[in-house]
Amino acid sequence: MLRVENLVKSYQNGRELLYALDSVSLSIDDGEFVVILGPSGSGKSTLLNVISGLEQPDSGSVIYDDYEICGLNQKELTLFRRDKTAFIFQAYYLLPFLNVESNIKMGADLKGNKNITEIIDGLGLRGLEKRLPYELSGGQQQRVSIARALAKKPDFLFCDEPTGALDEETSKQILTYLKQLQKQLKFTIIMVTHNVSIAQIATKVIKMTSGRIIEVTSNADPRDVS
Ligand code: ADP
Ligand code: ADP
Repeated sequence: MLRVENLVKSYQNGRELLYALDSVSLSIDDGEFVVILGPSGSGKSTLLNVISGLEQPDSGSVIYDDYEICGLNQKELTLFRRDKTAFIFQAYYLLPFLNVESNIKMGADLKGNKNITEIIDGLGLRGLEKRLPYELSGGQQQRVSIARALAKKPDFLFCDEPTGALDEETSKQILTYLKQLQKQLKFTIIMVTHNVSIAQIATKVIKMTSGRIIEVTSNADPRDVS
């Protein structure tokens, strides 16, 4: 289980402090599919970054089972992120000089995983293994970045607008595959999105406004992607 307690994160905005996170608390069970919704600037990305250890809060706690990550040093945080987490961003961040297969293997190598064939097939990337990122469409590049994340076999998969740059059909295919894999491998997904229809397939929906959580809805019976 993941517990987040009284997170505060502020930025200097001229002479005032802007609270990107204004005392945020929540808990997430293992294996949940959590969607974070809210208007632009409401603190969604900041929350994701603090929970995942990419950014430190001003105060508050992020506790994985019994492991508190706030206050860890850079080296400890790097190890934590390597062993437990993977990321998918709207901008794919593929290494431009490595082909598809090598990009995906980077994820796997971090944790010594060998079997990436299944992931390549699942994401419809068979036949594209030797291509370089610039030889792929946007949707294909995003599928490579998702494959790289999944190849790590993370316990927690953090996604920031993962389908934001994709057409609806490709988004659906990717979400279907993510859900299917989640069922099989039982990792936790925490996803920031503007796409309200993704909320229907989540187990928990968190709505944010102005750095605060204004609503948490648990969905006992989430739908399949349709
Ligand atoms: P969202 O993801 O919901 O669009 P963000 O978490 O990106 O919101 O941002 C929340 C607030 O914090 C915004 O007002 C944003 O301008 C501010 N903010 C985020 N990151 C920084 C930063 N590095 N420096 C200054 N202000 C920031
Ligand atoms: P674009 O980004 O230009 O929309 P895509 O990468 O979405 O292109 O699609 C390229 C091709 O791969 C299309 O023919 C699409 O139907 C197919 N495709 C997309 N996703 C998958 C998938 N998960 N499995 C198999 N084929 C897919």
